[in-house]
Amino acid sequence: MAIKRIDEIADSYDIIVAGGGLGGLTGANVLARNGYKVLLTEQHFQLGGLATYFRRKQHIFDVALHGFPVGMKKTLRKYWSREMAEHIAPVKSIRFDNPQFSLETDFTESDFTQKLVSVFGLKLETVQAFYRELAGMNFYDENNMTNRELFEKYFPGRNDVVRLLMEPITYANGSTLDEPAITYGIVFSNFMSQGVYTFTGGTDLMLQMMADELEKNGAHLINRAKLEKINLKNGKVCGAVINGKEVECRAVLSNGNILNTIHEYIGDHNFSQNYLDKVRKVRLNTSSCQVYIGLKPGEKIDFIGDLLFTSTCPDFSPEKLISKDVTSRTYSVYYPEVRPGSNDYTVVASMNARFEDWVNMTDTEYLLEKQKLIETTLDSLDKYIPGIRGKIDYTEAATPRTFQRYTLHGGGSSFGTKFEGLEVSMKLSEEIGGAFHAGSVGIIMSGWLGAANYGVIMAHNIDKYLNS
Ligand SMILES: Cc1cc2nc3c(=O)[nH]c(=O)nc-3n(C[C@H](O)[C@H](O)[C@H](O)COP(=O)(O)OP(=O)(O)OC[C@H]3O[C@@H](n4cnc5c(N)ncnc54)[C@H](O)[C@@H]3O)c2cc1C
Repeated sequence: MAIKRIDEIADSYDIIVAGGGLGGLTGANVLARNGYKVLLTEQHFQLGGLATYFRRKQHIFDVALHGFPVGMKKTLRKYWSREMAEHIAPVKSIRFDNPQFSLETDFTESDFTQKLVSVFGLKLETVQAFYRELAGMNFYDENNMTNRELFEKYFPGRNDVVRLLMEPITYANGSTLDEPAITYGIVFSNFMSQGVYTFTGGTDLMLQMMADELEKNGAHLINRAKLEKINLKNGKVCGAVINGKEVECRAVLSNGNILNTIHEYIGDHNFSQNYLDKVRKVRLNTSSCQVYIGLKPGEKIDFIGDLLFTSTCPDFSPEKLISKDVTSRTYSVYYPEVRPGSNDYTVVASMNARFEDWVNMTDTEYLLEKQKLIETTLDSLDKYIPGIRGKIDYTEAATPRTFQRYTLHGGGSSFGTKFEGLEVSMKLSEEIGGAFHAGSVGIIMSGWLGAANYGVIMAHNIDKYLNS
């Protein structure tokens, strides 16, 4: 992969894509394939954004490769390459262990239905009616139903059922019971179609393949290069400032956070009052903590499942799920098969978290709290991998501060914004000709599949704009 230095790039491009997350990368690839002159500029030294990895000792830790819907296969095949699509493989086993139930599923509709009927004692007709309601949800319909109302309609008083249906989605994207049911319906139905999938070879291989493909299609890539400003002429994009250098372009696709894009890179004075009123209502999504655990060379873990949703909380509560007093953790276990040819085992524990709980600590407090997070995670993991402390040679923790530092997302937001962010993102180009945004927003357009597909949608919009 040839990452250029900023002094090697051209003075002018058709499109500048700012940010190498999955939305930015996919948008850039579609545009480059369509023959446009594209510059992709990433402020970090590594591509991927939240979909990233890092190396420590002999380990490679995947940050966000826990699972995504099967739709990712089609997205990779259509907008990247057939070869990349062939790396998509199903996750075999998803386990839940909490005071209300312990069970294993492959997260397909048939298995899930069977569990809801036989383990939870629900009527088959009720489960099918629930699925029908989800399948009938249309993004363009006016529907103000919340998740709480949706679950109350089909499973009144059944906190255990709500936990099974909602907990993985809350872990995945920070959704609460007060979110519009349409966001749950779309995300849940995407997963339910054929279960959960992963990228064999790991995030490092996928990003390498993406960078190679971009280069093959003629895009220029630069890293450690921050978009600082989007330049306008007569209300339309005419260029951008990257690390102090002015570069001309006809359109910018920002993959950074939508609020940074509006307030920082464009500037409030360029927008209508009506639009700014909507922007002010946009809430960022919550953040995450993670603990990365690497096994000593030669140590093994017997198969205990690929994804384990664990909790000691007596019932399901999205509020408790993001509390700093952690009761719930998702473990992703990476066996050597994830990276064929390797003998490495790693475990990544993920916890939802609030930025506010971490931001005001002194450096000493912060280090102590991170260590506590590691120790309590190992204590809890010992139930599933007895003697875990004796098997490992590396641990490290990430917090909302880490996520903010590496991606520039306000509050270290792991899934962009709540639902209202989607309209603001989609209408950016109606306010400023040539300014587009593709990055996690509105819950629906986030996660690997949502972000990549949103990049495609925006690439098509840019194509239309440049040809109009
Ligand atoms: C802990 C965790 C676990 C997750 N697990 C999963 C999972 O299992 N499955 C799943 O589907 N999703 C998962 N996700 C979510 C998923 O990774 C993200 O939703 C998705 O990768 C976001 O893509 P994006 O296009 O919005 O860009 P982001 O990943 O947000 O990347 C934006 C990029 O833009 C760059 N950037 C920002 N500002 C600028 C600027 N001014 N100039 C230049 N570059 C800039 C950033 O450095 C970054 O590289 C997880 C997220 C987290 C945090």
